[in-house]
Amino acid sequence: MTQGRPLLNRRLTEFGTTIFAEMSALAVRTGSINLGQGFPDTDGPDEIREAAVRALRDGRGNQYPPGPGVPELRTAITDHQQRRYGLAYDPDTEVLVTAGATEAIAAAMLALLEPGDEVIALEPYYDSYAASIAMAGGTRVPVTLHPEAASGTYRLDLDELRAAVTPRTRLILLNTPHNPTGTVLTREELAAVAGLARERDLLVVTDEVYEHLVFEGEHIPLASFPGMRERTVTVSSAGKTFSFTGWKVGWITGSPELVTAVRSAKQFLTYVSAGPFQYAVAEALRLPDSYYDALRADLRAKRDLLSTGLAEAGFGVYRPAGTYFVTTDIRPLGGERDGFAFCRALPGRCGVVAIPNAVFYDHRDQGAPFVRFAFCKRADVLEEAVSRLKGLAG
Ligand code: PMP
Ligand code: GLN
Repeated sequence: MTQGRPLLNRRLTEFGTTIFAEMSALAVRTGSINLGQGFPDTDGPDEIREAAVRALRDGRGNQYPPGPGVPELRTAITDHQQRRYGLAYDPDTEVLVTAGATEAIAAAMLALLEPGDEVIALEPYYDSYAASIAMAGGTRVPVTLHPEAASGTYRLDLDELRAAVTPRTRLILLNTPHNPTGTVLTREELAAVAGLARERDLLVVTDEVYEHLVFEGEHIPLASFPGMRERTVTVSSAGKTFSFTGWKVGWITGSPELVTAVRSAKQFLTYVSAGPFQYAVAEALRLPDSYYDALRADLRAKRDLLSTGLAEAGFGVYRPAGTYFVTTDIRPLGGERDGFAFCRALPGRCGVVAIPNAVFYDHRDQGAPFVRFAFCKRADVLEEAVSRLKGLAG
């Protein structure tokens, strides 16, 4: 307190410390297997790491890179969007390199919102969305994805989405493939979101950081739907696709007007970041399709290993169509209902760390019994975790 006022402003008081920091610290303190925070325990390709070393040694990016990002990376990003999705962007005016997807989302909220604007986000939502909306003075309006135990999937109710739009709605903050549920929105669902955005004249910020981690169905960028290119900011990041989450290289693509707006905010957050890593990520984006196929195949096998193991251990399992997370229901374990208490006790009970999905909800009761496990870990680590978790039931 000073001047009789708390130090932290009202916009941020509800957020505390992120669950990822809390749970990773708990894993270290207890020596537990960390299936909480989503980071791979094996680094990305050697040749990409060497590309970063080369850039450092050659003095590329050791001083401030250009504000929008180094040209090599911006061109690699637009080539990637063209090659994978047939989306044409101009590397000079329609791309912005950011300090991870996290900064891209924060900058987009700070740039595009007036205080009081409403932002619709799919709930459970990635935790930085709520904080970024709050920092921009916006109001979040969650639309809850519904778990369907019978199919083991989460579904978006399009009528609920439609009903959430008000005259104050400025934008939809979408995420597909979706963290933490692993849902991949279908072409029909995305077409409905696009139709709604056009009809109600809304912007969309779409977080597609897991675009390459799809095991069922396909990833379709929202920007590829008719009339969406000019109202969509697409966000992605090298962290998930290339297994270098610590490099914090992210980007957006969008119309020149949208990119200029987001850059206006971004330039006063970090200005620029990650100089040498930008050159390395430019090389990574040019890896052959075989790289992406191998990444997906590896993670699909790990998804199956962990999902099957968790089911055998007694959890209700929502088998993810994408991402590297699996959401589980702890109720079948034997009367447990509180994911928070469960996750806080889990290291002591069996030496495993997971994330309570309730932190991703405004309607916390809806998320209470669900717990997320990450499977971007070595197979032997996942096997050991499963064998520990099998000791829980009964
Ligand atoms: N969006 C989602 C859905 C995420 O899961 C994450 C976590 N990596 C991010 C954004 C943040 O990405 P980055 O590490 O590139 O900032
Ligand atoms: N995106 C990662 C997750 O969902 C965590 C990133 C972070 O710690 N901010 O687990």
